[in-house]
Amino acid sequence: MRPEILFPLFAPPTSLKGIGPRSAATIGKLVGPHVVDLLWHAPRDLVDRTASPAIMDAPPGRIATLRVRVEKHIPGGGSAPGGGSAPGHGKRPYRIRCSDESGFITLIFFHARADYLRRALPEGSLRVVSGTVEEWNGEVQMTHPDYILAESETHTMPKVEPVYGLTAGLTLKTLGKAIRAAVDRAPDLPDWLDPAFRQAQGWPGWRDAVRRLHAPTRACDLDPMSAARRRLAYDELLANQLALGIMRARMKRLPGRPRRTLRPQPTLGPQRSHRSIEDDGRHCRGRTLRKRVEARLPFSLTNAQKTALAEITADMKAEGRMLRLLQGDVGSGKTVVALFAMLAAVESGGQAALMAPTEILARQHFATIEPLLAGTGLRAAVLTGRDKGRGRRSARSRRSARSRRSACGGSAPGGRTEVLRGIADGSIAIAIGTHALFQKDVEFADLRMAVIDEQHRFGVHQRLALTAKGRGVDILAMTATPIPRTLLLTSFGDMESSHLTEKPAGRKPVDTRAMPLGRIEEVIAGVARTLKAGAKVYWVCPLVEESEASDLANAEARFADLKSRFGEAEGPLPAEGPLPAVELVHGRMTGAEKDAAMARFSEGPAQILVATTVIEVGVDVPDATVMVVEHAERFGLAQLHQLRGRIGRGARASSCLLLYAPNLTETARARLRILRQSDDGFRIAEEDLKLRGGGEILGTRQSGIPAFRLADLSVHDELLAAARDDAKLILARDPELTSERGQALRTLLYLFERDSAVLNLRSG
Ligand code: ADP
Ligand code: MG
Repeated sequence: MRPEILFPLFAPPTSLKGIGPRSAATIGKLVGPHVVDLLWHAPRDLVDRTASPAIMDAPPGRIATLRVRVEKHIPGGGSAPGGGSAPGHGKRPYRIRCSDESGFITLIFFHARADYLRRALPEGSLRVVSGTVEEWNGEVQMTHPDYILAESETHTMPKVEPVYGLTAGLTLKTLGKAIRAAVDRAPDLPDWLDPAFRQAQGWPGWRDAVRRLHAPTRACDLDPMSAARRRLAYDELLANQLALGIMRARMKRLPGRPRRTLRPQPTLGPQRSHRSIEDDGRHCRGRTLRKRVEARLPFSLTNAQKTALAEITADMKAEGRMLRLLQGDVGSGKTVVALFAMLAAVESGGQAALMAPTEILARQHFATIEPLLAGTGLRAAVLTGRDKGRGRRSARSRRSARSRRSACGGSAPGGRTEVLRGIADGSIAIAIGTHALFQKDVEFADLRMAVIDEQHRFGVHQRLALTAKGRGVDILAMTATPIPRTLLLTSFGDMESSHLTEKPAGRKPVDTRAMPLGRIEEVIAGVARTLKAGAKVYWVCPLVEESEASDLANAEARFADLKSRFGEAEGPLPAEGPLPAVELVHGRMTGAEKDAAMARFSEGPAQILVATTVIEVGVDVPDATVMVVEHAERFGLAQLHQLRGRIGRGARASSCLLLYAPNLTETARARLRILRQSDDGFRIAEEDLKLRGGGEILGTRQSGIPAFRLADLSVHDELLAAARDDAKLILARDPELTSERGQALRTLLYLFERDSAVLNLRSG
């Protein structure tokens, strides 16, 4: 339960004085549903009203506070007083002429109420007005002063005011009022920081920090490196690290299982359940499966792959469950590592699952893995959202269908029911699929390892759902989107990580060029040459949102264009008749359509694949040597790097052409430059972080990476490191957070809405 002391902060904004339901709704949209969310809304700027010059000395465009004498009211033209009449239409504003000893200024009011103005600014009176000074036709003016006060009231005007980011329907006045009320409400919380640490940093207490955050007096108070900001950023990072530490400790506590029993080599025969084989004998044959499969690989593992595998198998043998992230740049060969990790789990008598973010990818993994299992007697099967009801053909090309027929293990031949049965009785050792793998009706006989490919595509809940399919399931998450260390820490805490630092030998670097869209004809000529040489081409059209019809139209128009230029494929074709040399894949196609198009491109006659970013992750077509990206300026850096990773996979030289629209922004220009200069995914990711700031880096909202309110990882990364160490130490000393400081830390967790972490403490 949330501690009582925080109740006032978790009330709705309507509980604040002067905030009605309408304002509360817009505030809710801008910052969040609770009073506490207002506290985290840091000011962007400040208004300084301390300048109090004579009228003639007031610089135009700046805010000034002027002492003036009201000379004369000049009512505006038009009819009704008040805002009733339509604006524009030549109606002159209400004007009030004022003076001081240096000169004159005209106060301008649109849609003004004359009676109000006569009361606020009676002719002949002395007034203090504060607002932005303008110059218009040689006249000094001030439109709608922010403050109009009698001399005796000037103390009510804040000399310096914070300025906040706003949203439609919310004025600074209302938001400022709400935030001031929220700040007044902030309770004095017991400090969760180590006193010595806090003192060394020179940080204020929590309530003080909140107050200072919202009461900047100089520009430097807005700096993210100010003491108050740093303190609050640290609090947020500490809450994040503690919560991760608690979740991790809980996962590790889940019953581990011994993994030393190795399953014997099964006798051949696909119909034989490997469960029954496991029960048959007890003598172990060591790394038999791996050896058998390795012998079928057309290459040997890189040293990086070997090291990663050694780390993974060591984890699997250790007590507790494995939680490891396998990071490797695109093309570094993660799939093979995943396969061997899964074989180790199978060898110890269990099952393994490989979850991919898209159907295309799931089926591609299946197409890669299944032939390699030939001769092991193991069955693999693919399960995706569309494998419904009756049997369906997987969309592998005819060629792999042939190889499947010749393979001895055989895949699950039937439809969904058959696959489900195989997963449930254990006869399917390796299940490959999409998120369909963790749907309710999928029951594993004994799931021991879950591999999650391109993990950033999945939310935390999906990851957990899959692991809930077994007891103490080992998790291997893989990502090609390089996650900088700082972000890794905030989303995984101390998840172990392995790193494929080298790419398979013989890869040639991709020649990357950026050019304006206007040169597209040259690009098309280049594509023609590539096709002549027998290589394949990806042509990527932007798709900001899969639902955006105009982007789809782009892709379809380009498809039609390229088809008309390059015509139909040449040469003799399979029984179904000629297939076009150009294929189109986009997010609105059904899975089967996508697979068919992909298959015709990867192994069939099609030489050009026009695609939206659905090909972004994982797809592997070694013959493809050219990638054209239209409107490259619309893509994120990491995304472009991913896309480029689709080529340069074979031995041939590859090139990537980034076509951009005119008038590039500075950021877009910088992105393209970095891509041209570097092929190192990690460097690119770090640069991306600098260009875009934290949460956006993966180009996806569901990245599972928390968006911080106060911490800014591009400047607070050293605080993150400190928070991590702090959290570690805290949990080592007081794992249940029961000490006095532990209690304060619980409050911190609630303050940052990590309630579930606290609940996990209790139940743990
Ligand atoms: P990613 O890490 O991007 O998922 P993949 O696993 O798809 O990379 O591998 C990319 C390509 O490299 C595949 O065609 C794969 O067969 C090949 N490959 C993997 N490991 C090696 C290796 N050690 N030597 C040569 N080629 C390899
Ligand atoms: Mg991959």
